[in-house]
Amino acid sequence: MAAYALTKAGADVALLEAGDVWYASRDSKMMFPNYASPRRGGSTRLKPFGEFDGCEGGWEIDGEPYTKADGTEFLWWRARMLGGRTNHWGRISLRFGPDDFRGKSRDGLGDDWPIGYNDVAPYYDRVDQLVGIYGSKEGIPNEPDGIFHPPPAPRCYELLIKKASDKLNITCIPARRSVITKPLNGRPACHYCGQCGRGCTARSNFSSPDVLIAPALQTGKLTLMTNAMVREVTLGPDGLANGVSYVDRKTGADLHVNAKVVVLAASALETARILFNSKSSKHPNGLANSSGTVGKYITDTTGSGVSGYIPAMENHAGHNEDGAGGMHVYMPWWLDNKKLDFPRGYHIEVGGGVRQPGAGFMGGIHRYPPGGGYGAQLKKDYRKYYGATISFEGRGEQIPSDDCYCEIDPNVVDRFGIPVLRFHWKWSDHEINQVKHMQETFRSLITTMGGTVFDPMPSKEDGYGIAAGGQIIHELGGARMGADPKTSVVSGNCQAHDVKNLFIADGAPFVSQADKNPTWTIMALAWRTSDYITDQMKKRAL
Ligand SMILES: Cc1cc2nc3c(=O)[nH]c(=O)nc-3n(C[C@H](O)[C@H](O)[C@H](O)COP(=O)(O)OP(=O)(O)OC[C@H]3O[C@@H](n4cnc5c(N)ncnc54)[C@H](O)[C@@H]3O)c2cc1C
Ligand code: SF4
Repeated sequence: MAAYALTKAGADVALLEAGDVWYASRDSKMMFPNYASPRRGGSTRLKPFGEFDGCEGGWEIDGEPYTKADGTEFLWWRARMLGGRTNHWGRISLRFGPDDFRGKSRDGLGDDWPIGYNDVAPYYDRVDQLVGIYGSKEGIPNEPDGIFHPPPAPRCYELLIKKASDKLNITCIPARRSVITKPLNGRPACHYCGQCGRGCTARSNFSSPDVLIAPALQTGKLTLMTNAMVREVTLGPDGLANGVSYVDRKTGADLHVNAKVVVLAASALETARILFNSKSSKHPNGLANSSGTVGKYITDTTGSGVSGYIPAMENHAGHNEDGAGGMHVYMPWWLDNKKLDFPRGYHIEVGGGVRQPGAGFMGGIHRYPPGGGYGAQLKKDYRKYYGATISFEGRGEQIPSDDCYCEIDPNVVDRFGIPVLRFHWKWSDHEINQVKHMQETFRSLITTMGGTVFDPMPSKEDGYGIAAGGQIIHELGGARMGADPKTSVVSGNCQAHDVKNLFIADGAPFVSQADKNPTWTIMALAWRTSDYITDQMKKRAL
């Protein structure tokens, strides 16, 4: 987004990307049938979300480790490709609401942001209009409406979910996803093939290479430097950033590129890593770290799920319910925390229906009565039960704490010789109680639908099934923004307090999570930061 906004404003930009060039419009396997592959689309260690998933990267990258302190469970998904994880993300595109910028004022926990919803709202509008998003106007105070394309109609199972939600007084509305349902800027409307996670060859969903990088290249102002693994930000004698040093991943050569302004957008935690590794005698604890808060206050979305079997959906009449590759309805946070034993909310994502079957589909027929078998009976069972499964996933807000942070592991480097991150993570009772509530809610939704839950309620000792830190892949923080340079890394304009020509345009400056997925806010802030850079350059203040 920063490359797009800055080149459009007339700046010459060099974009250093650790991975290779990848455009969904050219490289996606959107229309490839699972049955044509010997692995039936199944996952592998280096392709954990399936053979045709549109991501080069994953939980593990050979030669690029990270480490964890004793007792810490943490997972870090890293993409190594142009556009990063925007090539295969879920495209659930939610604005943070006014309350999400002032958590501390509301309940005394965490910190307030130095900016508010009104500062970001014009940029949300711009992102909506440039990128495109489906949704509906609902007027929910902390779930701001955007400028939406019409949402796709709910599928059969989503109508049943809506019915159960209504009975339980849970708000259930059309989903908000960055998929276009009308033509936009030369991109056609979604044709409902249901394969968003592989990347869209038609460019009907958002991935940054096709929607942002391609038009940025057309300005003639963007130099794309791929396979360039950034090691550190370098400083000139005046103490300002004068470029970055990087390793050419193909040749191993150590190289440097000069710049008047440096914008880090390597994903929140990787940006913290680059800052730590940009050490010098003047910045012994890492660059922009005079506050000691680089790597601190990192958070992920909380997550927990429940799935079940709904007899009313057995043997349903076959019909085309592919739709957009993701949910058509969802449940935003609907309760008042004052009446609950945890602060901050969560939203509910729904899954179900019949998609192209692949390896491991339905989670195994043995889970269904009468438990699978062989031959004709097995085929009959598959036809009967396929589509009779429903799942709910909670996505909630974690409060930043001193227990969750990253630092440089003094003993481990990656294959380029760059020191790696070590993670520390501990959920608090806030998150554990929230996840308990998710489990209870999802179970009552399934029983209200007349269904049976597959697995028993996880115990308190198991954290009620809370996903490991990082597992929901919404890592934020590590270079948070604030008005006070003693307690924050960047200003409200994402400008480093210590180095005025260094900016951050990913999730690292987030002061807190919300009960919303973060990417729409990352993009809105990146655009806002780019406008600030343009303004400051015009004023010759950088
Ligand atoms: C499966 C999945 C589903 C998701 N679903 C949603 C969703 O529905 N809604 C939502 O809001 N969010 C979702 N997310 C999260 C979303 O993808 C991220 O918030 C978003 O991509 C973050 O953007 P980013 O640019 O900060 O980081 P990334 O997308 O990770 O991009 C970082 C880029 O920097 C490059 N890079 C990294 N290190 C270096 C280095 N040292 N030198 C040079 N280049 C480097 C990488 O190769 C990559 O291109 C999902 C993520 C995943 C994996
Ligand atoms: S469902 Fe729509 S947006 Fe998603 S990959 Fe298919 S055509 Fe593209």
